[in-house]
Amino acid sequence: MINVTIYNEFYHEKVNEKVASIYPNGIHKAIGELLSVDPEFNIRYATLDDISETLTDEILDTTDVLFWWGHVRHHLVPDEIVEKVCQRVYDGMGFIPVHSGHFSKPFKKLMGMSCNLKWRETEDKERIWSIEPYHPIAYGVPEYFDIPHEETYGERFDIPTPEDVIFIGNFSGGEVFRSGITYHRGLGKIFYFQPGHETYPIYHMPVVGTILRNAAHWCYTPKTATPYTLGFWEKR
Ligand code: ZN
Repeated sequence: MINVTIYNEFYHEKVNEKVASIYPNGIHKAIGELLSVDPEFNIRYATLDDISETLTDEILDTTDVLFWWGHVRHHLVPDEIVEKVCQRVYDGMGFIPVHSGHFSKPFKKLMGMSCNLKWRETEDKERIWSIEPYHPIAYGVPEYFDIPHEETYGERFDIPTPEDVIFIGNFSGGEVFRSGITYHRGLGKIFYFQPGHETYPIYHMPVVGTILRNAAHWCYTPKTATPYTLGFWEKR
């Protein structure tokens, strides 16, 4: 079994009727539904309101892959938890920030850059090109697929050069974006995936489910990996 924990700040769903109608149980539960068709995942949930009970040391220690959706409440995530998330990544936990998770504290800390990007909300269509079909995260994904409406994200995306750029997004306004990218930090694998603005039903799309399930498998590092980096990252 792969222990997956899905964090969502779970704010827009409570205050915005449109978001609530698309994700009545929260974005975290929608991502969980996409993952749950694979019986290998044991899924737990965490939200900002209950973060001190749902991202405890014990839960982080037993999390193999952590998903992260956040947007307007990144600053309310306690730094102590951010530090523990990053340490768990160095020790081998997979980390999958999605959409506006590019500005989450753990992702910014792991990247060491601003992670800023260009954006606008004009209901653009996005075409996602799968440009590295050899990569396990791209298995079963067509050469391209369309998201009818998505918030536009554009380059430059201020990130370290990724190890793999698996997906490139092309928006109807003309922008391009590195929409699916990978990194290692310590023993942990990281996959950032751009789609998932809260006002569009993107986490109900089957192809997005394929990608997120593939990513959770790819980001899983068995506990037998030797934690030779322990202590190394803290000293830097
Ligand atoms: Zn957004």
